[in-house]
Amino acid sequence: MSDLISIIVPCYNEAEAVPYFYDAIEKQAAVMRDKYGIDFEYIFIDDGSHDDTLTVLKAYAEKDSRVKYISFSRNFGKEAAMYAGLEASRGDYTAIMDADLQDPPYMLSDMYEAVKNEGCDCAATRRVSRKGEPMLRSFFARRFYRIMSKISKADIADGARDYRLMSRKVVDAILAMEEYNRFSKGIFGWIGFKTKWLEFENTERVAGETKWSFWKLFLYSLDGITAFSTMPLAIASVIGMLFCIIAFIMIMVIIVKTLVFGDPVAGYPSLVCIIFFVAGVQTFCVGIVGQYLAKTYLETKKRPIYIIRETNGGIKI
Ligand code: UDP
Ligand code: MG
Repeated sequence: MSDLISIIVPCYNEAEAVPYFYDAIEKQAAVMRDKYGIDFEYIFIDDGSHDDTLTVLKAYAEKDSRVKYISFSRNFGKEAAMYAGLEASRGDYTAIMDADLQDPPYMLSDMYEAVKNEGCDCAATRRVSRKGEPMLRSFFARRFYRIMSKISKADIADGARDYRLMSRKVVDAILAMEEYNRFSKGIFGWIGFKTKWLEFENTERVAGETKWSFWKLFLYSLDGITAFSTMPLAIASVIGMLFCIIAFIMIMVIIVKTLVFGDPVAGYPSLVCIIFFVAGVQTFCVGIVGQYLAKTYLETKKRPIYIIRETNGGIKI
């Protein structure tokens, strides 16, 4: 029997991009069908779009029975969309791709070769350039990957994309991680498995606009850190200890100055500065603890990761 590849495509307001994507992936699918005799299924996830994305998807589903769509009741985010796609995928191999063609479809052949013939469980991609991206964004993205690889077990390659082809084993491992606060790049790294990295140059989006503002990305990176590392908690403890030591030294100095040299204690301004500083550090550390507490709180509620409003093709609602 021939292999089936499931392609998962999260779409949020991508009505303009979907037709380009469909044409491009169909071309690639034809090439791979001729070469390896594999079948494809496409799982589009409409992540609560406000434009005509769902209408466009339905039109494709009508004329192509390999097109499945899952439409969410609201915008749950790309992470939830990817999870829903993975749950719905039935393929021997599963790939995740953006709808905007920033993930070049031609790479699927190499990815398939790597997983099928080279003994890898998973073929992942990373961008070697960030051409066309704002400088500030690239700078912070690079710092983030550096910090992340230092402080967590989830080793993330710089420029790693969510674009990857996975075997069933890997998909099942990801699905077993049912956490509510999802950070896929961390999850991919954490589960391990033999991964082959393929590189490509950044390409610009074919139509529509990016859904990620700088601020949204910044918050996402904080989510990533709290989801895969408890290092900030350790840093908070170390800062606390450091301040205890400094305070102890200062007390000693004051005692000696007063008792031995008979110097009266002076310096209201310096006292105010210290109080402000210490209060700031305390608030910062409590904030860090709060972040973890908030994550734990949401996790214990066991809310569903996504809610489906409409779908075709036997996917449970
Ligand atoms: N996306 C999504 N839900 C969101 C935001 C984005 O499903 O809340 C999808 C989006 O439609 C696209 C992919 O995630 O297919 C990547 O988004 P985008 O291209 O805006 O990100 P960028 O490539 O600029 O990092
Ligand atoms: Mg994009």
